Amino acid sequence: MAQIDRNTPRRPLDTILAADIGPDIVGATPYGETPVGPSRNDSLLMWSDGFDPFGAAKVSPWVTTRHGDGIHMLTLAGGVRDVHTKDVLRAPVQLRYPRCTRGGCTLCTYLKVFHYSFAKDQLFWWTGPVPPD
Ligand SMILES: [Zn+2]
Repeated sequence: MAQIDRNTPRRPLDTILAADIGPDIVGATPYGETPVGPSRNDSLLMWSDGFDPFGAAKVSPWVTTRHGDGIHMLTLAGGVRDVHTKDVLRAPVQLRYPRCTRGGCTLCTYLKVFHYSFAKDQLFWWTGPVPPD
């Protein structure tokens, strides 16, 4: 765990704590397939569900749109933010995003793992050094 009491991120106002998740719909999705997962798994945030809107695999997106063109996210500092996810859903999941790196994203800078980027809305999975195990 992050042990945020001892390993405070550099940007707690912009660090994601919780978010609306999907899939929300039963039946056809905008991509034509029936949602198959991933499961809600107790609202555990995932960095990437492997969804590729242009690939052969028919997997429904986990990141969703629920409120207009996005979702709501709760930050570590307690704020609730509107996040625009339509573009996030359509972009390939990457290891590194320039805007995300500039914002101090730990995943881009230190861990180099595939993740969605919400840097366009000034939100990050973690900012600061990697917490020790
Ligand atoms: Zn990043």
